[in-house]
Amino acid sequence: MTGRPVLTISGLHVDYGTGSGAVHALRDIDLTLHRGEVLGLAGESGSGKSTLAYAVTRLLSPPGVITGGDVHYHPHDGEPVDLLGLTAEQLRAFRWQELSIVFQGAMNSLNPVHTVHSQLTDVLRAHRPRMKGAERTARAEELLSLVGISRDRLVAYPHQLSGGMRQRVMIAMALALEPEVVIMDEPTTALDVVMQRQILRQLVRLREELGFSVVFITHDISLLIEFSDRIAIMYGGRIVEEAGAAEIYRDPRHPYSEGLLHSFPALHGPRRELTGIPGSPPHLTAMPAGCAFHPRCGKAFAPCSGEVPVLAGRAGDTTRSVACWLHHPA
Ligand code: ADP
Ligand code: MG
Repeated sequence: MTGRPVLTISGLHVDYGTGSGAVHALRDIDLTLHRGEVLGLAGESGSGKSTLAYAVTRLLSPPGVITGGDVHYHPHDGEPVDLLGLTAEQLRAFRWQELSIVFQGAMNSLNPVHTVHSQLTDVLRAHRPRMKGAERTARAEELLSLVGISRDRLVAYPHQLSGGMRQRVMIAMALALEPEVVIMDEPTTALDVVMQRQILRQLVRLREELGFSVVFITHDISLLIEFSDRIAIMYGGRIVEEAGAAEIYRDPRHPYSEGLLHSFPALHGPRRELTGIPGSPPHLTAMPAGCAFHPRCGKAFAPCSGEVPVLAGRAGDTTRSVACWLHHPA
């Protein structure tokens, strides 16, 4: 996918805490989302995926602090918007409208005492004050059918819906104002695999219809292989590999990417042995020197415990990059 950039993140650093107690949760993150693209973000629990989603959308709360870097949104026309510089009021206008987010466990964040109708129309009322009541209802019906829920569920309360339906209501809400960018942080983990794939398939179809771009976050890389255009893999607060979904599947370069691919059953093709990754992810307070993955890496050699390898491409190859000493000899 080679659309123009719609969201650019450069040199982003996030700490939890300050002073001597600060831990570095994100280090030097560079990432670009292109128009119309589904970008997958994968990595084990604790790698910094949610921190990245919160930082980019300015929803990070204390003790989280952005200590460096830039995030820019590039509208269809006009100047790039510096997201880290927006005031609270500018942010309110920006969220939902240009960029929306579906959080981890979002299906439980619907208000139990309000109907689906009232929750969908609230978003419209807040941002489209001139819309008439009947128009809002019509739009709410349209949004429900977009995500494959029948219109008569509009009068339902959250507890009357299945988990998958509640999740789809949250997705409908995120799409209500036709944002350019939708960030989904593990929106489907609580659902069974069949339901996860059904929701993702719907999302990809909607993306084609409505033309928005998606950052899809999950620890399950097999879902990303099937549904995303490009994949970025995080480990210990850094991006360690970034490439087209098919390229990563065929030829993962970082040993961690390879390990992740062998941690989930493949959806298509020959069955692979599930070997997983030995050991556990590092703690932020005790990050190994050099490449943070080296203590778990079967291919580690001398340089790996020395310096952190930079995320870079091979000469002449701009489509993928990897941060690994095997690919960038010292
Ligand atoms: P992921 O979404 O990939 O599982 P997170 O972004 O939630 O990872 O967490 C990244 C790291 O930041 C973890 O080590 C986690 O313990 C730490 N972290 C997250 N939230 C906080 C917080 N509020 N205070 C301190 N540390 C935090
Ligand atoms: Mg998370």
